[in-house]
Amino acid sequence: MVYLVGAGPGDAGLLTLRGAQVLRIADVVIYDSLANSELLKLCPPTAKLVFVGKRAGHHTKTQDEINTILVDEAFAEKSPGIAVPGLKGTGRVVVRLKGGDPYVFGRGGEEGEHLRKHGIPFEVIPGVTAGIAAPAYAGIPVTHRNFASTVTLVTGHEETRVNFEALAKLGRGGGTIVFYMGVKGSAGNMEKLMAGGMDATIPVAVIQWGTRTLQRTVVGTAATIAELVRAAGIATPAITVVGKVVALRETLNWFERQPLFGKCVLVTRTRQQASELASQLAELGAQVLEAATIEIVPPTEEEWEEIDKQLMHLPAYDWVVFTSVNGVQATWKRLRHLGFDARHFGASNVAAVGKATADALEQIGISPDVMPEKFAGKELAEAIKGHIGDDEMQGKRFLMLRADIARPALREELLKLGAMVDDVAVYQTRRPEQLADEVIAAIDKEELDWVTFTSGSTAMNLWELLLPEQRTKIAAMRRASIGPMTTESLEKLGWKPTVEAKHANIKSMVDAILEMERSPKGDR
Ligand code: SAH
Repeated sequence: MVYLVGAGPGDAGLLTLRGAQVLRIADVVIYDSLANSELLKLCPPTAKLVFVGKRAGHHTKTQDEINTILVDEAFAEKSPGIAVPGLKGTGRVVVRLKGGDPYVFGRGGEEGEHLRKHGIPFEVIPGVTAGIAAPAYAGIPVTHRNFASTVTLVTGHEETRVNFEALAKLGRGGGTIVFYMGVKGSAGNMEKLMAGGMDATIPVAVIQWGTRTLQRTVVGTAATIAELVRAAGIATPAITVVGKVVALRETLNWFERQPLFGKCVLVTRTRQQASELASQLAELGAQVLEAATIEIVPPTEEEWEEIDKQLMHLPAYDWVVFTSVNGVQATWKRLRHLGFDARHFGASNVAAVGKATADALEQIGISPDVMPEKFAGKELAEAIKGHIGDDEMQGKRFLMLRADIARPALREELLKLGAMVDDVAVYQTRRPEQLADEVIAAIDKEELDWVTFTSGSTAMNLWELLLPEQRTKIAAMRRASIGPMTTESLEKLGWKPTVEAKHANIKSMVDAILEMERSPKGDR
């Protein structure tokens, strides 16, 4: 079965539910450069990914070659198929993922014809087309009761055989004209429109990378737009919209007015953690780059066997202390592996350092008894004393499940109060070998507006992963720190943060960035 799937215009959220459903079961995905590569994360890790699109310096597959790949992939062997409710057959699932809508200037029709010729069943899953979505994200409705009652989708490609007189006639009657492709040909297209009788003062907008955080919009008239586009350095992919509706942008623009629109933010994080910070920043319009500066490494099987002894006896501890989300997740996974479930915590009290750790515990059905905000021995001891009363620490048994980076202070504070502490590393952290190319490039080209730090070790690791001149570049950028401990590490590196979160959490750090961006001195 082949699915011709519209990937939408760029914003990954604009994929259809049906599109997501087939990507999740794809055996192979054949995609091109306009489809947001984020969408490929929906595929099973075993899916074969075939890139057939244009990208600078890469060979572009011809349509004939793509057609051949489609057929070959459809007929390729599949390991014993699983029937999926709602989807036909048990054969190989081939997804042809195409930018926008497959049938709007996407050559999806040709691919369908070719599949039919070879007797291969296929389905089309329409997508949100760029010619409508990019204007919408630029504040331009392609039709409007008072201004435009037709909209014409046109290929602006240079060798197009479009009847420009007919187009100009529609345009004069108030119709909107949307050109796909042909940024290069835009001067020629505008001239032909005007020669066909179009008013030279009609508003025109060109939108590059519409719906992505990279979106850029230039507005002019039929007479002036080509020069404006050239001056702004706008290149493909871009949509050109001609018509009175363009003027509505003044009122309806929303995407480009988001508080962090146009800002590029580097988020340093562990490779495994889905980044809540990244999604909060993207929600505010920022372009987010993620740099994995910490890798979480599980203990070896031998090491686990040592740890297991403590985990088996977990119910014998008065207190079980978690200091991180990773600690909760690693422990839980191991407990399940050993055949235990949440009942294993039995009558033990549970302490979580920080809200995120507490949330991770809630997810496995455990409400922590205490939750000190800070990762410091005093705070934890205070919180526990508050819970069980003074002098009750004597002889209490504690199990701390933490990362390899031990914080002796935490343990010592408890020992001082007469508690007995077993202390186990349930995961290790290490620095990855290198940063992703796109991160290095953004630092080298000084494209970042902000660099965010959520721990001292992410700061240290980033520093270690950079060349001296790159460290100097980071020193010239704005930096946000999640709290005093991270700030301390940053200061040691000569990266004193521009802002620090009021409360040590992600929301608060995002607020600090927003506040700086909104303040008058926030404009550089
Ligand atoms: N099938 C696609 C169009 C493919 S033709 C669709 O329905 O959207 C390729 C052209 O689409 C590009 O040259 C450009 O004009 C337009 N395009 C695609 N994605 C775009 C985007 N995010 N922003 C602006 N134009 C885009």
